[in-house]
Amino acid sequence: MTPDVDAAMGRALALAAAAVEWGDTPIGAVVLGPDGTVLAEAANEREKQGDPTAHAEVLALRAAARVHGDGWRLTGTTLVVTLEPCTMCAGASVLARVDRIVYGADDPKAGAAGSLWDVVRDRRLNHRPQVTGGVRAEESATLLRAFFRRQRGL
Ligand SMILES: [Zn+2]
Repeated sequence: MTPDVDAAMGRALALAAAAVEWGDTPIGAVVLGPDGTVLAEAANEREKQGDPTAHAEVLALRAAARVHGDGWRLTGTTLVVTLEPCTMCAGASVLARVDRIVYGADDPKAGAAGSLWDVVRDRRLNHRPQVTGGVRAEESATLLRAFFRRQRGL
């Protein structure tokens, strides 16, 4: 893991922790440019915005496209996210032409980067981002566990 990616995961974890403050599931995402600089970052804002598509990855990809300077294409970028992307976010990463996805915890219930589905490496697609999972996974899983425990009032 390069220092850039490790630092980005640290930032994504901090964003994830912040999402809890407004009642969203703790998930954070950072998009790194080809040179490793941060292009954009976001936390999950589904509850905050009342928007079913306001996942951290989608918000970060949209913001990154606004500053990347290649229209909607995010060629050469890395999406760093605390939880394995769902089908929507995996699909958005493919459509955005992200080069690489680095994620923290696996999501056996909805993960689309290898757990339940593998949208990002489907051979029928002509763009397939490289995937690295399990980066600082325990920190991400701890945030999620604490959140769901509170949700259930335990
Ligand atoms: Zn998602």
